[in-house]
Amino acid sequence: MSERIIPVVAERHSLPLPPVNSSLALTPAQPDGHGRLLRDLRISVTDRCNFRCSYCMPKEVFHKDYPYLPHGDLLSFEEITRTAQAFVALGVRKIRLTGGEPLLRKNIEVLIAQLAALRTPEGVPLDLTLTTNGSLLARKAGALKEAGLQRITVSLDGLDDAVFRQMNDVDFPVAEVLSGIEAAQAAGLTGIKVNMVVKRGTNEDQIVPMARHFKGTGVTLRFIEYMDVGATNGWRMDEVLPSAQVIERLRAEFPLVALASSAPGETAQRWGYADAQGAWDASQGEVGVISSVTQAFCGDCNRARLSTEGQLYLCLFASQGYDLRSLIRGSLSDTELRQQIAAIWRARQDRYSELRSQLPPDSATSPARKRVEMSYIGG
Ligand code: SAM
Ligand code: SF4
Ligand code: SF4
Repeated sequence: MSERIIPVVAERHSLPLPPVNSSLALTPAQPDGHGRLLRDLRISVTDRCNFRCSYCMPKEVFHKDYPYLPHGDLLSFEEITRTAQAFVALGVRKIRLTGGEPLLRKNIEVLIAQLAALRTPEGVPLDLTLTTNGSLLARKAGALKEAGLQRITVSLDGLDDAVFRQMNDVDFPVAEVLSGIEAAQAAGLTGIKVNMVVKRGTNEDQIVPMARHFKGTGVTLRFIEYMDVGATNGWRMDEVLPSAQVIERLRAEFPLVALASSAPGETAQRWGYADAQGAWDASQGEVGVISSVTQAFCGDCNRARLSTEGQLYLCLFASQGYDLRSLIRGSLSDTELRQQIAAIWRARQDRYSELRSQLPPDSATSPARKRVEMSYIGG
C-alpha cells in the first residue's frame, strides 16, 4: 500500500466570513464578483461511497481506516432544508443531491420530500435532481420518485463488465447499474442522464458502445473530461481525452448536429443524432460533452456547493469553504443567514478552470493549496 497520508479532514480551515451589508436588498438575483447569478446548489449528503473509482476515491487513500466524518458533523435534513431555503430566496432554482454516494445516506427520501416541498419566490417548485453511481437504484428508484425527485443522473464509465469493474475498483457488475437505470425509467423519473468520465487508455474504447446503447432510449449520455479535482487521484494531463476527440470518434459512427445550450450556465455542449436530411432526430436523442479541462466555462458558472458538514464552497477546485454549519447551529435568524450567504456570493471571484493553464503544475498537491476532494463536496 502507498505511503501517501492525506488527512483531508484535519486540514480543513474555513474562510473568514465577509462582512454583511444589511442595507442591500435580498433579491433572487445576486451577482458575484464577476456578475454571475446564483442559480444552482449542489448538496453533498455523505462523504462515504461503496465504490472506489480511482479518479475520485482511490483505494490507497480511502481505505478502511479513512477518517470519514462522524455522524454528528453531518448537516441534518432539517439543517439542509433550512439552508436550501435561504439559497432559494437568493436565486437558486436547481438543487442537485450528491456525495459520496447519496443513496447511502439513510432515509434520503425524507430529505427529498422536504426539498420537493420548497417553492421559489414565484411559487414554482425547484428543479430537484440527484447524481448516483446507480448501485442502489434498482431498489430505491420507486421511493425516490414517490418522494418528489424529478430527474436523476447516473454515473457509468463503461458497458464492458471488466472495464466497469476496473473503474469502480470494488468489482461491482455493470448489469446492476443498467437495471438501476431501467428501474428509474420504469418509476417515471424523466430527463435521465448518464455521465461517463473518460480516461485515456482506460475506458476510451467504451465511448462508441455507450453511445450505441443509449441512443434512442430517452437517456442522455454525457462524456466528462477526467478532471484534476482533489489532491489524491494522481491526475495527469496525458490521461485526459479532450472532448473534441470524443466528438470526432462519435461522428465517425453517427451523424451528429450541434444543438443550442438548454440553459444559462449549462456545462454540457449538446449534440443531437441527425436524420437522413442532416436535421436533429429528437426521437434518437442527444449526447453531450463536458469539457471541464480543455474548455473553461467559468464565465457563467452559477454553482455553489454545500459539503456534507455544511461548508460552502464556491468552486469545485477551492481549497477552503465558508463554515455555514456554525451559523446554522448558532442563533442566526433566517434573514441573517440569507444576508450572510448573499455577502459570501457577492465576494466570489473563483474561476479556476480559466486560470488553470497559468497555475504552477504542482498547485493541486502543494500543502499551501490542498484542494478539497470531489467525494466531500460532490460533483
Ligand atoms: N457517487 C455519485 C456518482 O458517482 O454519481 C455522486 C458523487 S460523484 C463525486 C459525482 C460525479 O463526479 C460523478 O459523475 C463522477 O463520475 C464525477 N467525478 C468524480 N471524480 C471526477 C474526476 N476526477 N473527473 C471528472 N469527473 C469526476
Ligand atoms: Fe463514489 Fe461517485 Fe466518487 Fe465513484 S465518483 S468513488 S461512485 S463518489
Ligand atoms: Fe465554476 Fe470553479 Fe468550475 Fe470555474 S472552475 S466552472 S468557477 S466550479
